[in-house]
Parts: sequence; structure tokens; C-alpha cells
Amino acid sequence: MSLPLSQRFWVDSVRRLAPYVPGEQPKIPDLIKLNTNENPFGPSPRVLKAISESLDEQLKLYPDPQSTALRATVADYYRINVDQVFAGNGSDEVLAFVFRAFFSPEKPLVYADITYSFYPVYCGLYGLNSHIVPLDDDLAIDVPALLKIDPTTVSGLILPNPNAPTGRLLDLNTIGQLAAHFSNTAVVIDEAYIDFGGKSAVALIDQYPNLLVTQSLSKSRSLAGLRIGLAMGDAGLIEALHRIKDSFNSYPLDRLAQAGAKAAFEDEDYFQHCCQQIMTMRDQLSQDLQSRGFEVVESAANFVFARHPEHSGAALAAGLREHKVIVRHFDKPRISEYLRISIGNAEQNQALLAALDAVMAK
Ligand SMILES: *Cc1c(COP(=O)(O)O)cnc(C)c1O
Repeated sequence: MSLPLSQRFWVDSVRRLAPYVPGEQPKIPDLIKLNTNENPFGPSPRVLKAISESLDEQLKLYPDPQSTALRATVADYYRINVDQVFAGNGSDEVLAFVFRAFFSPEKPLVYADITYSFYPVYCGLYGLNSHIVPLDDDLAIDVPALLKIDPTTVSGLILPNPNAPTGRLLDLNTIGQLAAHFSNTAVVIDEAYIDFGGKSAVALIDQYPNLLVTQSLSKSRSLAGLRIGLAMGDAGLIEALHRIKDSFNSYPLDRLAQAGAKAAFEDEDYFQHCCQQIMTMRDQLSQDLQSRGFEVVESAANFVFARHPEHSGAALAAGLREHKVIVRHFDKPRISEYLRISIGNAEQNQALLAALDAVMAK
């Protein structure tokens, strides 16, 4: 079989990759964009100030390769040590390093059937096998099924908490049980959405040396455009991530990102205020959807996951798009009837509801 000309210089493994497809970022004016869980509020004014104060001739110099000042600020925030914090270029990059550092091809990695869709992509990139545990009928993580797995047969466990794209939350007690059960492998909790009502498992890292928590500044801290992700865990786990980073790119965070991210952690009032408003609007939007006949999964995130018994997910998503509202629809088994709708500002949420009413009246 002859290869397409454009692929003739590719190594075989590139041909086999199935890359992640990010939610689209269309350039349509007046679009109501509720498809990638960005924050409807801008970053803290202190972040903008810190970035503009970093815009000087120092840009000719490389940034701090270890992001020490940022990591020290995060360590203070969580009352842990600086050697228990890693910072990378978005939590997607942090996760790419995590998969490389802790999950081995010899044994499968455990994750749920409905989870962050980047996990199978990293498995493909690194040639890892998966042990997939379906969510239960209520779309909750099947904790009893996880606890039945023989931990010596797997290379680790990864879960978003709250889960993506369902928004369902596990409590810290359960996270502790999972970390204890899989004590001979890394247990990674992806907390991209933890600030919207959950409790961070960072509180458990001193107790479980195998527990690694990743976080993102893209959602709750309104900095998707700056690209900052974190990992918190035992100093031994963090050292492994630094080894991977320094075998790949010593400077994943530029000067502006380090300054902006640090300032984001220093403006607690602004952060709490934005998260509170988003949670209030989430609960309101859930009610408004329910009153229109939607089944809404209880969410602890900045999005809701909902389906309508009489309207298909694909038709609703397409109809909303005609009204210039875009939401995320996953054409995948079990969840193809659902829409994942990011919480926008009050005006955007109203526009979403008005567009849904128009689409469903047809
Ligand atoms: C958004 C998201 C990420 C990636 O966050 P970035 O920091 O923007 O790379 C990771 N995990 C989950 C579950 C997410 O939803």
C-alpha cells in the first residue's frame, strides 16, 4: 500500500496517533461561546498589572526554569513545601509529563469510560494500555468497581475530580480510599474544576506519597490564554516531573506567565468572588434547564451536563449553533444525547435559554 505523499517522511508511530481535538475557537462575531469551559470573567486586575510590569527589557533573558517564585506562592497557598509543587505549560502539558513519568506500558492504566478525552490520547502517544472502568448508571465514578481491581495488575489510576464532562464530584474520603487501595502505583487526581465547590485532594498529599493532584489556571482563574498548569504531590513525584521537563524543554513557562500566575494566587478575594458567582449561576442554569424538561447531572464544575428526553443532543447542538450559541456535544457512546454547557455570564446564560426555547419550539 502506498502512503500519501504528505506522509512519506513520518515515522510509523505518528501515523498511528489519534490526536486530541480541542473545542473549537471560532472567530465569529457575537458568538456565545459556551463550549470550552473558559471563565466568563476576565483575570484579576492584579494579574494584568503583574504581566504589564514584566513587559520590559528583561524579556531578553530566559525565565526562571523552575518557576520558583510561582511555586513558592502556590506552596504558601496550600501550606505545603515548594518541592511539592510543579508548574508547567497548561495542565495538559503537566499531564503529558505525568503519563510519561508514572504510567508504564507493562501494565494498563485505569480510567473511566467517560473521562477527559485527552487520557486515551496520551496512552496512544506513549504506547500505554488502558483498563477502562465504566461509570455507573447514574454517570458516577464506580468506586466499588475500582476498589475490586487487583492493584498489582495495573500501572496507575487517573480521574478528573469533579469528573469531566459529567461534573460529578467525589469526596476526599473516597479519594483517600482510592489512594490507599492503589498504594503501589501513582494515583492522579485531575482537579481542573475543583474550585467550583469541591475540596482539593492537596490536603491528602502528605498522607499518600503516591497521590498526585493536577490543577489548571485556565478555568477558575480565568487564564486559559496564558497556559499554566500545576501538580502537587510528594517531593519524590515532583522530582520525576522535573526530570521529564528538563529532558524536554527547560523553560515551559515564560516570564509573563510566571508573573501572571503568581498574581492570580495572590488575589484571593477576586478569585473567590468569581467562583461564587459562577456556582450561583450554575445552580440557576441547572434549574432553568430542568424547568424546560432537561435532566441535568448534579455539577460541581463550571459547566452543566444535560439531556432532553425529547430532543437529540446532536439536533440541539446544531440548532443552538444556528442561533450563534455553541456548546460541546460528544458524539460518543453513552453520552451522545448530552450537551456540555459552560457557565457564561448572566447575559450569555439568558441567550442560551432563549435559543434553546426557539430550537425546541420548532
Ligand atoms: C481543561 C482541562 C484540562 C486542561 O487544562 P489546561 O491547563 O488549559 O491545559 C485538564 N483536565 C481537564 C479535565 C480539563 O477539563
